[in-house]
Amino acid sequence: MKAIAVTPMQANSVHLVEMNKPAVSDIAGCRGVLVEVLSVGACGTDREINSGEYGVAPMGFDYLVLGHENFGRVVEVGENVREFKIGDFVVATVRRPRGSSIYDTIGAQDFTTDDKYYERGISRLHGYMAEFYSESADFLVKIPSPIAEIAVLLEPLSIIEKGLKQASDIQERLKIWHPKTAAVLGTGNVGLLTTMALQMRGYEVHGFGLDKREGYLNADLVEAIGATYDSTRDTTIVDSVKKYDEYDLIFECTGYSPIIFDAMQALNENGILILASVTGGDRKTDQVPSDKINQRFVLGNRAMVGTVNANLEHFEMGVKDLVLCEALHPGWLGKMLTHKVEGLENYAKVFEILNNSAKFKAIKTYFEVAKI
Ligand code: BGC
Repeated sequence: MKAIAVTPMQANSVHLVEMNKPAVSDIAGCRGVLVEVLSVGACGTDREINSGEYGVAPMGFDYLVLGHENFGRVVEVGENVREFKIGDFVVATVRRPRGSSIYDTIGAQDFTTDDKYYERGISRLHGYMAEFYSESADFLVKIPSPIAEIAVLLEPLSIIEKGLKQASDIQERLKIWHPKTAAVLGTGNVGLLTTMALQMRGYEVHGFGLDKREGYLNADLVEAIGATYDSTRDTTIVDSVKKYDEYDLIFECTGYSPIIFDAMQALNENGILILASVTGGDRKTDQVPSDKINQRFVLGNRAMVGTVNANLEHFEMGVKDLVLCEALHPGWLGKMLTHKVEGLENYAKVFEILNNSAKFKAIKTYFEVAKI
């Protein structure tokens, strides 16, 4: 079968490989599921891996099959699989409990403390930019057919769902927490999905992006589901509180780390700031009003949490939000799927768009590997 791979740590090494088709019997305990890949999303992580910034090949291979944003159809199941049947639509999670930390042993591998982690398409395990994959039923989520067309958005959404779950778990420290307002920093595909997830929870949501409002599709989408959009070129996050008041929850997904210090100054008392950008560079920030920020955090019992990856429960939360959003705003999620590239062999196009997403006005670029 065809797959798209990189030579890890080598810039622009993306290429097509021919591999053996995986089998249900590759998975222990007769728990295997063979999945025909229907679509695979591409994101900043894939771009950075292809830029040679990170990525690790599985043991015994000198290449890594890319792809972690996936959607497919079950074509075969092992003897001990009762929860999936042939024809079911599924999305697979990304990280596997292969480490030695206690979190891996209790199935909370998204909280692993191991330096070496195992993520399909990213680190030590082949990904989903392939015609088929096999996986244990334990790492698959069933997708209701009404959201099949947009289910490739579930993996990026799962990251947000985990962030929001962490926030609500942390806020149990307060006996009562009735958050009303939220700011979402960044309006790329992760920011849009965050805006959606918060809208589904009934927040008053304020989205912030770098681009000017006029002619910006992402801002149209933010407003179409009832949130506001402001360009940080006109209004800084700190200044925005004059208009919207301090935020009970702020979700950072810009990839621009200096903005977190602004966010820390715009958080309401008892509020929570969630950080979800993997900033691989070495940017430094001076002129941070650290006394003021520290004092506000202390005197206002404010909290900040970092979040990475997601587990099955977060994917399941995401399925519910996708279904609810489709019911409330039919077609909105589909508008995020701006750039479809048919066929894995056209990987060069996917990476051209990924490397120039502003020029292409791309929100989500993805392969259609096979038709639904
Ligand atoms: C993926 C996560 C992963 C993280 C770090 C993100 O792009 O969506 O599943 O944990 O990268 O590798």
